[in-house]
Formats: sequence, C-alpha cells, structure tokens
Amino acid sequence: MIKYLVIGDPVAHSRSPKMQNAAFKACGMGEPYGIRHVRPEELPEFFEYARTHFAGVNLTVPHKLMAAELADTLTLRAKQCKSVNTLIIRNGHITGDSTDGVGLERALMHNFDLTVKGKNFIFLGAGGAARATAIHFAAEGAKRIIFVNRTASKAFEIINDIDSLQTGCFCGFASPGETDAIAAELKICDCIIQATSLGLKESDPPPIDLQLLEINKNLVIFDTIYKNTKLLQKAAALGIRCSGGREMLIQQGAESFRLWTNKEPDLDAMRAGFELPPGGVEV
Ligand code: NAP
Repeated sequence: MIKYLVIGDPVAHSRSPKMQNAAFKACGMGEPYGIRHVRPEELPEFFEYARTHFAGVNLTVPHKLMAAELADTLTLRAKQCKSVNTLIIRNGHITGDSTDGVGLERALMHNFDLTVKGKNFIFLGAGGAARATAIHFAAEGAKRIIFVNRTASKAFEIINDIDSLQTGCFCGFASPGETDAIAAELKICDCIIQATSLGLKESDPPPIDLQLLEINKNLVIFDTIYKNTKLLQKAAALGIRCSGGREMLIQQGAESFRLWTNKEPDLDAMRAGFELPPGGVEV
C-alpha cells in the first residue's frame, strides 16, 4: 500500500521512488513509495487528502514555497528558508520540513570532506534550491556567501532573509557579467555551488565565464544538476575537484526517510536505486 509519495509538476522524471523504495526494502518495509502529478492549483486539495491517506510526502518543483504556507506546522529550518520539500503526517497533522540544505551539506562532506562552518561560498543562482541551501549554510556557520544570479532581486531577497537571522555570515551579490567582482571572490572561495538550471539542456550556456575557473584551482565545485555539465567538464579539465548533484538528492531523501521512519536508511541501497536520465553522465 502506498503511504509515501513524491509530488511535482512535472514529476514523471523523478528518481525518488526508486531511491526511497530501495531504502524501504532494505528495512523490510516493502515498496510503499509512489509518485503523483499534482498541479499548483491542486495543492490545497492534495494537502487535505494527504492528511488522512499518507504518512510522508516529498515535494519538488514548483510546490516548495506554497507548501510552506499550507503545512500546519513548520520546523525551524523550513521556517528559516520558507521552503518545504518534506511533509511528515501524523494523526492528520502535517509538519513541513526542508531537507535540501542538510542534503547538500552532507553531500559536500561525502564528496569532498568539506564542512560548511567558516567557509566562503559562491552560489550560482538564487532560485528555490539556492534559497533553501544557502540559508541552511548561513545558519550552520558559513563565513561568506556571494550570489551570482541573472535577477538581482531574487538574490537580495535571500540576502535579506539571511541577514535577519543574524548568523554573522557575510552575504553579497554579483551579476554573471561582473567578471572582476567574481574573480576577486574566486580568489578567497572554498566552494562553488552551481544552483541555476543552466546545464539541464545541452544547448545551455555555462552559468559563468569558464575562463574564471583558472583563478583558483584549490576550491571545489558542486553542480546540483545530475549531468556532466560544461562547468564540470571545464573544472575536471583544470584538475579542480568537482561533482554533480546525485549525492545531494540521495542525502536529502535519506533525511526525509529518517523523519518518517525514525530508522537509518541504507545509503548504498539508495545510491544503487538512483538511475540516471537518458543521456545523463555520472560524475
Ligand atoms: P528555480 O527556482 O526555477 O531557479 C532557477 C535558477 O536558475 C535561478 O537562479 C534562475 O535565475 C536561473 N536560471 C534559469 N534560467 C536561466 C538562464 N537562461 N540564464 C541565467 N540563469 C537562469 O529552480 P530551483 O528549484 O532552484 O532549481 C535549480 C537547479 O537546482 C535545477 O537545475 C535543479 O535540477 C537543481 N536541483 C538539484 C537538487 C538535487 O538534489 N541535486 C535539488 C533541487 C534542485 P533567475 O533568478 O534570473 O531567473
């Protein structure tokens, strides 16, 4: 019987069912995780149905912000980033949580042995993924976060939210074309997080001028996209340590699993359950 779900619009491409069912199976709990296409206008009705029919839900694009308004209660981290990717449903009560930030934090530890505390980050992008993860990083003691994004206002909304948390994290902004400002930041940067959607399509341009990567080859690059993007190809050619987004998806899903079951998921089973999209290249 399906007790857990991933919902989104679109959602057919999601690898969460394979990944989560691998974890449930490894715990002897069968395959209780399904998938459902839910449009934004259907979300309030879905919440009422979920209240009595499911124990847990993952939400993907474009539901994360609206879900933060519809949940009965939010965890502190969901409140801080105003985004929800996990619903925990007990006795008809819906708690919203955000596991994207901790998922990325653990992915950086797994892939690069990198901790967030005291580090300087450049975030390429200021959409939902950048918002949830950067706010988590600031709360976890990141020293400096610079957002590079096409639309300045979205970056400044995140910066204002981080400033209001009074974490001591310094935040700044540069447009993708401000190469001098980006070059200066790269010199002191520990880690670039690529969180734009540029790279999903082969024809996409890179999110920044790739020549800039030559400035600092000691940083690490995490691209949230699951493909071998132009950014990752250039970084690898320069000998910069880099990875795609697979481990973030696994770690955020693992955290959802813990919240629902109070059990430790088998991460290797989840990794094995993860499948690449057609044409995707694992890095
Ligand atoms: P989103 O809210 O729609 O944000 C998209 C971001 O990409 C914005 O910063 C946007 O800039 C930028 N962008 C889009 N098209 C662009 C273009 N033509 N030129 C320049 N910038 C452009 O999406 P999201 O939810 O944050 O997702 C962003 C990425 O993160 C996606 O690639 C997604 O696959 C990935 N992601 C991965 C995981 C994981 O577990 N690995 C989890 C979540 C998301 P503007 O602000 O200027 O529009």
